[in-house]
Amino acid sequence: MEYDDIIVGAGSAGAALAARLSEDPDRNVLLLEAGPDYSVVEQTPADLLTTWISAGPHDWGLTAQATPTREIPYPRGKVTGGGSAVNGHIALRGTPGDFDEWAALGNHEWSFEKVLPFHRKLEDDRDARGDFHGVGGPIWIERPPPENWQTLNRAFFDAARALGYAEVSDHNDPQSTGVGPWPRNRRGGVRISTAIGYLAPARHRMNLTIRAGVHAHRVIIENGRALGLEIECAGATQQVRGRRVTLSAGAIHSPALLMRSGIGPRDELAALGIKCQVNSPGVGRNLIDHPMVFLVATPIAGIPHDPQVTNPIGIRYTAAGSDEFNDMQMYILELFDANLSPGLALDLPVPSVSLVPGLQRPRSRGRLRLRSANPDVPPVIDLNYLADPEDMRRMADGVRIAWRLMHEGPLAPMLKEFVNMTAEVVNTKAALETFIRENCTTIFHPVGTAKMGPDSDPMAVVDQYCRVRGVEGLRVVDASIMPNIVRANTNLTCIMIGERVADWMRNSD
Ligand SMILES: Cc1cc2nc3c(=O)[nH]c(=O)nc-3n(C[C@H](O)[C@H](O)[C@H](O)COP(=O)(O)OP(=O)(O)OC[C@H]3O[C@@H](n4cnc5c(N)ncnc54)[C@H](O)[C@@H]3O)c2cc1C
Repeated sequence: MEYDDIIVGAGSAGAALAARLSEDPDRNVLLLEAGPDYSVVEQTPADLLTTWISAGPHDWGLTAQATPTREIPYPRGKVTGGGSAVNGHIALRGTPGDFDEWAALGNHEWSFEKVLPFHRKLEDDRDARGDFHGVGGPIWIERPPPENWQTLNRAFFDAARALGYAEVSDHNDPQSTGVGPWPRNRRGGVRISTAIGYLAPARHRMNLTIRAGVHAHRVIIENGRALGLEIECAGATQQVRGRRVTLSAGAIHSPALLMRSGIGPRDELAALGIKCQVNSPGVGRNLIDHPMVFLVATPIAGIPHDPQVTNPIGIRYTAAGSDEFNDMQMYILELFDANLSPGLALDLPVPSVSLVPGLQRPRSRGRLRLRSANPDVPPVIDLNYLADPEDMRRMADGVRIAWRLMHEGPLAPMLKEFVNMTAEVVNTKAALETFIRENCTTIFHPVGTAKMGPDSDPMAVVDQYCRVRGVEGLRVVDASIMPNIVRANTNLTCIMIGERVADWMRNSD
């Protein structure tokens, strides 16, 4: 059988794309997912519904080189819903400047004005109204009301206000900067992944086939056209055929799939014995991620805390001396019971309270390479965090702000002692930079490894309609295509990408 569309990866972008394409009953859509599929919420393991997961059976178990001397676990969701099914359910949009930059780089279809309708279409925002927001879309978004904030979060909010950060009621308003509740894709305590928001209402369609436990090995390409995929299912290698093939396997696995299919830097492919179909030097380059670093303290005894409430307050701010709006974030993370955070790869003490500055507009670029042509061998992920001095400068600024928030305001009396930081380190440039290098980790947002761009950009892997250069009928639709990272957690942008491209694909061949 030949499908009209085969999509690899049922994650944030892929599930949205499959659901939208299969709204057309005349189109046969096959959605392939390497991880398991839970078709109803009642049968979904509890950890997939609540807290974020960074290890275990729904994770790919990857590692990455954060800096030349620091290797870290590098979680990626492996389940229908992909990253959206394991993530921290922070539902932030990029700033208008992020999308206008994409447009200025030669991708005029991705300006803020052009992507706004798709941001609105994907959401069912329960609190914010007006021109920037949507109602009735697949992803439920809410903000915790102040009366539900945890004691520690309230203190963090008050401390940030005392330091001069503006009060923000909607972090997704394009002008917002300051402290306020994170918008979250969470309803009644359940994370609304794309498996729940998009796939669940589409499962009855006879023209949508969802196959889990299927590992796509490579795209079959003949005479410059994608004809289907070589896949492995339950130990058997098979082929599936489709008129169009779309890779939505995420910013780590989509470029790996491209390279295994012969699309990538010619020399690297040759070294691994892979026949080059298209010499595309940009595949795997331009790897961008948001780094963060934890300042950890123990709380005094007796602070009330509801373990089901995670990350509800945050700061979006512009670093001192920076001219890039909202280029930083600050989180508070409270950990009171390790059992309630299954698979948390971070080695934090329990109980603990952390303030976590995170760089949103990194200048450093990393790189992804295939280690082997064997699809079971994970790629080499080199994040190259903080290689640019401006990245380090803004992170150091963030640590100093976190230290002040933990010392000067209403949060300070709730903290007993610091676990990994001293005043001497905070106040000594070299020591602080060493601390950051030795403790930085990921906010889990890799993007950019098959970036879009105009013909004039030799490093662009796809055009602005996400069509792979040099191969007919092949697209990449996921985090890989971002030419630069957005100043926000990346889930909503990935879903928006799925929505945006579905609109084109429904109206073209
Ligand atoms: C632990 C964690 C916490 C996060 N927290 C947040 C947050 O709070 N807010 C936020 O906005 N973002 C968050 N993110 C990031 C966000 O979830 C991702 O940016 C987003 O989900 C990426 O979407 P995607 O469509 O590019 O890929 P994914 O959602 O990763 O989807 C890719 C899918 O493809 C499948 N796949 C890969 N290779 C193959 C193959 N060869 N064959 C078949 N299937 C394959 C994968 O199993 C996966 O399901 C978090 C991510 C993680 C991992």
